[in-house]
Amino acid sequence: MFDFQPISGLLASKTILVTGAGDGIGKEAALQFAKYGATVILLGKTVSKLEAVYDKIVKNGGPEPAIIPLDLQGATAQHYRDMANTIDTQFPSLDGVLHNASLLGHLEPLQQISEEDWNKVMQVNVNSQFFMTQALIPVLKKSNNASIVFTTSSVGLKGRAYWGSYSISKFATQGMMEVIADENENTPIRANCINPGGTRTNMRAQAFPGEDPETLKTPADIMPLYLYLMSDESKHETGKTFHAQPK
Ligand code: NDP
Repeated sequence: MFDFQPISGLLASKTILVTGAGDGIGKEAALQFAKYGATVILLGKTVSKLEAVYDKIVKNGGPEPAIIPLDLQGATAQHYRDMANTIDTQFPSLDGVLHNASLLGHLEPLQQISEEDWNKVMQVNVNSQFFMTQALIPVLKKSNNASIVFTTSSVGLKGRAYWGSYSISKFATQGMMEVIADENENTPIRANCINPGGTRTNMRAQAFPGEDPETLKTPADIMPLYLYLMSDESKHETGKTFHAQPK
């Protein structure tokens, strides 16, 4: 596992946006960021799940979070510009974005991928994070030290049969991270990717229905890397892909 020992208050006074914060890895990341002192903006499509995370953060004594209910499937560039304005006016700074939400789509031969399914996966996994990042960069530039973290996958580093649109969308994510990191070399913004590795979530169960979930790491197990990349401890890191678990 990635070796990092977070200290208390590691993320104090930071504001961090997490997409897909209602479930799986995004939920755990939101809880952990708050535990280490960050104000977390919880973005996702199922409001009841976001509210449950909000309640848990408040119950644990973390900084009061905010909720942005948004279905990335239908959101346009204008939604992201409006969102960026709201964040800019309502928070002292935006210091981190965890692009975590994504859609697996169907696992099937490339020939069988329908136009509709292809577009759905690209909309959530590529277009949404592109337009969201584009809108948020001016806000992130106002931070002393801003971290954009994208989420890749082993199939985003080496293509795999039948993982069609998801695999291709993760290669695009990897490229987006590298372009943003390179363009922002002389700004306070850094960008990196996390490959979580097989983790016990609904998405993993959907991809590998026959697998025993008990054999997998939990979202909590992989958090040291997420905390590292959101903290100032990683301010020299940019343009890289990190593996939360041994490959
Ligand atoms: P889950 O399916 O458990 O959670 C995905 C989250 O994304 C949910 O909160 C979901 O919201 C949200 N989401 C999905 N579609 C939308 C949408 N249209 N608008 C807004 N939010 C949306 O996935 P994981 O936690 O497993 O995955 C997190 C990230 O890690 C993903 O990028 C995934 O590709 C990556 N990953 C995961 C691995 C694993 O083994 N789990 C391995 C490699 C990479 P809701 O619950 O409301 O549907």
